[in-house]
Amino acid sequence: MSTITTDILIIGAGLAGLSAANDLQQAGHQVLVVDKGRGLGGRLAGRRIGDATFDHGAQFMTAREPRFKAAMADWVATGVAEEWYSSYPGQPNGHPRYRGVPTMTAVAKHLAIELNIMRATRVVKVSHQQTGWLADLDNGDRVSAHKLLITSPVPQTLELLKGINIPADKQSRLERIEYESCIAVMAILDGPTAIAAPGAIALEKGPIAWISDNLQKGVSKIPAVTIHGSGEFSAEHLDHDRTQTGQQLIDAAAPYLGNAQVTEYQVHGWRYSKPSIVDPDPCLLLSDTTDLPPVAVAGDAFAGPRFEGAVLSGWAAARQLMDTDK
Ligand SMILES: Cc1cc2nc3c(=O)[nH]c(=O)nc-3n(C[C@H](O)[C@H](O)[C@H](O)COP(=O)(O)OP(=O)(O)OC[C@H]3O[C@@H](n4cnc5c(N)ncnc54)[C@H](O)[C@@H]3O)c2cc1C
Repeated sequence: MSTITTDILIIGAGLAGLSAANDLQQAGHQVLVVDKGRGLGGRLAGRRIGDATFDHGAQFMTAREPRFKAAMADWVATGVAEEWYSSYPGQPNGHPRYRGVPTMTAVAKHLAIELNIMRATRVVKVSHQQTGWLADLDNGDRVSAHKLLITSPVPQTLELLKGINIPADKQSRLERIEYESCIAVMAILDGPTAIAAPGAIALEKGPIAWISDNLQKGVSKIPAVTIHGSGEFSAEHLDHDRTQTGQQLIDAAAPYLGNAQVTEYQVHGWRYSKPSIVDPDPCLLLSDTTDLPPVAVAGDAFAGPRFEGAVLSGWAAARQLMDTDK
């Protein structure tokens, strides 16, 4: 077993973790990010099946807050994002929707360029001493850090914090947070879909919430759709047979696929997809009224249940952790 020492440990290389890491590093802190996933970006997920490519997590991003708008402009200028559409059939005057280029994960990869990240490494336990945090990793190593930021979906964060004496009011705020599930089907087709430009459909009723045509979107070079089950359907089917559940969603998508037939498909279940009950603060500093070393939690459950919210939450957590030095 070896112990890695860092100033700040961030659990999670999703948008919140990567955004916080950049701000902290730019302010001169030594930061280590650890993520259990092989890829970067958490719920910004892409997958290849043969010649087909899919965004199977977040589908697009919107930008409202000034600093985030500036970041988006920078990503567009750098070529890792572009406007996908600002209106589609049924929603003529929408807000601009941006997509990652070539896939949504491009933004995460861009945010990760300067960072020190351990991938495919799960933090299995956190504990603390008087002056800092210890994180046990699933490879047997340990990280010792002065400060800790946890950005996993909150139920997973609560698991990690078991045994840590956090204030009761903050514990109950964390326990209130809830997420929708989402079953995502990635299906390769033998021809084009019947979905009109720009290649996306959001549905209000039935088992499907969203279908995107990855060929029209510019993500895939061959016809390929991502189908997202609705929150209700996904919660009910999350632990069912994935192949059967995927087929149910494909059958329900038939009117949008036109004459195209599915030649192959894979299914991914997101247990924590988008938060349905969020906390009003942009992040939570758990240590401020305690003897705990600095520890904060962040993610899309705090500053809003989407891409932008996760980034804003990461930035807010970075500020809060820097302020603990004052
Ligand atoms: C199917 C789906 C569709 C969506 N569509 C949209 C959309 O169209 N527009 C939009 O704006 N948003 C959308 N979202 C939401 C958006 O993806 C999230 O709001 C955002 O990506 C959350 O970022 P985050 O950093 O808070 O969390 P995450 O991306 O979940 O990052 C947390 C990271 O922590 C890691 N982790 C967890 N536990 C541990 C551990 N013990 N040790 C190490 N690492 C750990 C995980 O691997 C993960 O990478 C969608 C999400 C899903 C799932």
